[in-house]
Amino acid sequence: MKIRTRLTLLFTLITATILLAFAFVIYYSAAENREKEFYIALKKEAVTKANLFFDAKVNAKTLQDIYRSNRKVLNEVEVAIYDKNFQLLYHDAVDIDRVKETPEMIDEIYKSGEMQFHQDDWQVVGMLYSFEGAKYVITATALDEYGYNKLESLYRTILLVFIISIVIIYLAGRFFSKKAFQPIAAMTEKARGISANNLDLRLTSNGSKDELSELANTFNQMLDRLENSFESQKDFVSNISHEMRTPLAAIITELELSLNKERTLEEYKSAIRNALSDSRKLARLSNNLLDLAKASYDLSEIYLKPIRIDELLLDARQQVQKANAKYQIDIHFENDFDSDDEISINGNEYLLKTAFINLFENGCKFSEDSKSTVSIQLKNGEIILKFSDKGIGIPKEDLQHIFTPFYRGANKEFSEGNGIGLPLTKKIIELHQGIISVASEELKGTVFTVLLRNIQNS
Ligand code: ADP
Repeated sequence: MKIRTRLTLLFTLITATILLAFAFVIYYSAAENREKEFYIALKKEAVTKANLFFDAKVNAKTLQDIYRSNRKVLNEVEVAIYDKNFQLLYHDAVDIDRVKETPEMIDEIYKSGEMQFHQDDWQVVGMLYSFEGAKYVITATALDEYGYNKLESLYRTILLVFIISIVIIYLAGRFFSKKAFQPIAAMTEKARGISANNLDLRLTSNGSKDELSELANTFNQMLDRLENSFESQKDFVSNISHEMRTPLAAIITELELSLNKERTLEEYKSAIRNALSDSRKLARLSNNLLDLAKASYDLSEIYLKPIRIDELLLDARQQVQKANAKYQIDIHFENDFDSDDEISINGNEYLLKTAFINLFENGCKFSEDSKSTVSIQLKNGEIILKFSDKGIGIPKEDLQHIFTPFYRGANKEFSEGNGIGLPLTKKIIELHQGIISVASEELKGTVFTVLLRNIQNS
């Protein structure tokens, strides 16, 4: 069931319940009033007849004649008068006799002074009447036809008003809920048309601060993010193909040229060397991409163990120097430490080493002296590593882009690379809940600061 229909029905049901309670109270109080008023009328009529009988000494026959003649046109009150000993002194019409009085009833009226009850629809009142020091019991009964008719007509009016109101409320509910949900229907229609091919479409917000425009704005912001991520995925794929195409084209050309005609041994060796260098570039690219994919995992999906950061830096240095003997790497401790935990983190050894290798290699390859220095500082449960070099530095306008995949700065001519090293390093550091930042001055050098929380602090 649609929310719109559900709301309309709920609204109608609530209003119907309120109306019903209201109608019940009105009808009930009208019925109560009728009964009370009729008892009062009965009592008056009883007293009037008793006065005529006792005071005015009108004889019984006359009173009975009046009763019988009135009965034909009016709903006349039937009165009976008894004395203390259940002796009938007067009765309007013994043959009709609606109220079957008993000695117990008369006693009860003597005791309590008054009695009111129903005999079918007829109301009966019994009361005491004093005349010349003696006490008599009068009973009076009549059917309040007029009152019952009024009640019946009130009941019909209430029922009619109730049905008409419910129909009007239901129709109004449907109309207003349709109006209220119209913007949602429009949004649904628009959202239905948005696919990967037209992610630039946006929902129209009415500009006000209501919940619906908030929803439209949030949805649009989500589309912005989706569009961005789609675009960067596309860029990423085209960058990868571009990075692979260049060395592959070089390898193919090199091998084709070698096969073209007979070459000298030296020429063959040179061709193989070039092809090998390009293949290494490809292998490095694919390794970097694989590492990037690993670093994009959730922390819970990768293997973690306590690692001493200083030992890992030593390992990384060894690996870098093995690949490039002219690179120089210095490791400095800024302060002493008492326990292994102070310099250890819970991390992934392979990924962290890859990050450190990237930072060492960058420092060395972008410096004339091929030298990179790392200082280790332990402070308030944090391990602060500063990878610095006295190299060519990074131009200011490049600083904000160097962590973007495949981005290579204006200084890229200085050394070979593929632009994956730093984004990969940043991902790895952030995966370990760390922070990486950079400060650089052209021709003076660069400092990458890595902040990691040690085992005691994480
Ligand atoms: P790559 O080194 O393969 O080009 P990176 O992602 O490691 O890619 O670095 C991106 C860019 O950042 C480099 O092309 C370079 O312009 C700049 N860069 C990184 N480290 C240094 C550094 N220590 N000194 C100067 N420039 C650097």
